[in-house]
Amino acid sequence: MATVESGILLERPMPYCPGCGHTVVNKQLDQVVRELGISPLDVIVVSDIGCCGLVDGVLGCHTVHGLHGRSTALAVGISLGLQNPSKKVIVVLGDGGATIGLQHILEAARQNVDMTVIVQDNMVYGMTGGQVSGLTPESLKQDRLPEEEQVPAFDLVQLAHTAGAVFSARVVVGAGVKEVLREAVETPGFSLVEIVEMCPSYGIRKVKELKEVMPYPEVVLRQTRPIRRVQFQQKASLLESITAIPVQFNHRLEQRLHVLIAGSAGEGIQSAGELLASAAMAAGLYSTKKGEYPITVGTGFSVAEVILSPTPIHYTGIETPDVAIVVSADGWNKIQSRLSASTRLIVDESLAVDKKQPMVRVDFRGAVGGRSAALAAIAFWLQQEEWFPLEALRLVSRNRKYAAALEAAIAKGQQLSPVG
Ligand code: SF4
Ligand SMILES: [Mg+2]
Repeated sequence: MATVESGILLERPMPYCPGCGHTVVNKQLDQVVRELGISPLDVIVVSDIGCCGLVDGVLGCHTVHGLHGRSTALAVGISLGLQNPSKKVIVVLGDGGATIGLQHILEAARQNVDMTVIVQDNMVYGMTGGQVSGLTPESLKQDRLPEEEQVPAFDLVQLAHTAGAVFSARVVVGAGVKEVLREAVETPGFSLVEIVEMCPSYGIRKVKELKEVMPYPEVVLRQTRPIRRVQFQQKASLLESITAIPVQFNHRLEQRLHVLIAGSAGEGIQSAGELLASAAMAAGLYSTKKGEYPITVGTGFSVAEVILSPTPIHYTGIETPDVAIVVSADGWNKIQSRLSASTRLIVDESLAVDKKQPMVRVDFRGAVGGRSAALAAIAFWLQQEEWFPLEALRLVSRNRKYAAALEAAIAKGQQLSPVG
């Protein structure tokens, strides 16, 4: 049970190299939270990518792990959503994340969002082997970058202050950290503390060397500004705009059926998958549909994964398909390695498929063209296996754009016969 006395640090070994500055900072933050009498349940730590982000595993408060540099943006959302001064939103990120996400920090400072950003600045990207960040001092860059690429480090504390932070400070890791962190956490509004630290594995190994290399001195900057508040308007949930599909048909499915529909991008594979999943709902089944296609939408393969089930679906992945409906070579090349010996294949007759497994070949593309082949193949398959009436597929197609073309593809698929 989390209490003020228990603090935010769990009794677990720290996940860092021996001597890492992150260990010191985390312990100081824990002490600050205890001394201020803050319950761990009122602390939300948003961590970033990098060694400092490993802190999640040793924290007994609320934690959110962000993308690299984006933790501050997440924390802004949390803070503005809560708008509760008794909740402490604290970002923990490194010098790499701070400079990747510098705009997020400046924006949060400019708007004076109520939160604290702790920058654990060991002056290098520690986790990936000591590369330079935007806060690496020139003295550390000499053996890491060619001379022409050596530019001064950002003065993060001055930047945050100029942007509008009410409290911004730089402090070298050690006993003084606690006092600075305490003021930052206590101060309403946006605060930033840059803690200059060691990374014994890839950066500075000793505290006394930090002051010799750090480009800017320890400093505390304060100013007074109003805190950013927002008025929220209650709006209808997007889910409320989704019309339920009434159950109008029966089904005869007794267990989950995993269906892959594979073809070429731009040929209606995803739409056909959605229609199959929707038709299954109209027949009283649970269904899910997921799509996979290259980032360059419109070229290459397109695969729709559809699960039909008489019981709720808690895991939406398909490891081994029961049925694969394949209407082009792009689709076949993509999914053939996923098939098992028992996967039933419905394939376009143009495909060179030499698998020794249950297979039906039909001239879908010749009958309805590439753009309608997937839907015609689904109609053909449903007609063959009768898991639920084809009328369900017709019903859900009626409200779609190009309803007439969909109806034509279904009607044609229903009439087709296997080749050979
Ligand atoms: S690599 Fe550096 S920053 Fe990462 S845990 Fe080790 S000492 Fe700490
Ligand atoms: Mg770092």
